[in-house]
Amino acid sequence: MAGLVEVTRGVFVATHDFCTSTTTVVAADDGTCLLVDPGISPAELDTLAADLARHGLRVAAGFATHPHWDHVLWARALGDAPRFATAAAVVATAADRERGLALADEFAPGTDHDLYGRLTPLPDGAECVPWSGPRVDVVEHRAHAPGHAALHVVDAHVLITGDMCSDIEIPLLDLDAADPLGDYHHALDLFGAVADVQQVIPGHGHVGDGAELRRRLTADRHYLDEISAGRGDDDPRLTQAWLVRDHRAQRAKISITRTG
Ligand SMILES: [Zn+2]
Repeated sequence: MAGLVEVTRGVFVATHDFCTSTTTVVAADDGTCLLVDPGISPAELDTLAADLARHGLRVAAGFATHPHWDHVLWARALGDAPRFATAAAVVATAADRERGLALADEFAPGTDHDLYGRLTPLPDGAECVPWSGPRVDVVEHRAHAPGHAALHVVDAHVLITGDMCSDIEIPLLDLDAADPLGDYHHALDLFGAVADVQQVIPGHGHVGDGAELRRRLTADRHYLDEISAGRGDDDPRLTQAWLVRDHRAQRAKISITRTG
């Protein structure tokens, strides 16, 4: 894992080996921080805890952007702050716990089962993360997974998008949803409406600026249109076997739904 990189004042990103996963740290002036999607291996989580200590930061709150296994991990060294997620994400994490733990054991051996997915639902109607640091708005939607939320660090002009807006992964749809395509378009519209984003931090991939966010939104909408027409095989992000497999599965399902 690379160490924490400050992408703008008070916002740090660590990048991990598994699928170029990222962890975002939002620092407050009082030495506390909000920790978003900490990952992935036990060694990386311990390194993250050591890096935070080196920066003089104590975790006041965690946040899991969505219920997938690689976003709901934790380690004792990170402390026992509440780890927030949307209410729908908390329910989905519990429902999918067995499968999630099996994946964690496969790709992050030694994962702490006790701490896996120990999430606190956001209060009803919460528009921002309940902590005393910089205002972080919650942009809830249901693309990619139930209860997915992007986070908007308002004063820093940062949008943390979870498993969306990636430069290295195609849009990955929740094929169990009633309207995976509509859900995805809706989420992209929400992101496009966030004012004055200067940094986008995807859960997998690389940090981009505001122009790069707009480029990714356009590329993702184009991809959705392509799979609706049974195409999309030429997306430049289809560089790995698992992405090609997922692409074929969603292209087949979406184009059938649209024409059948
Ligand atoms: Zn995911």
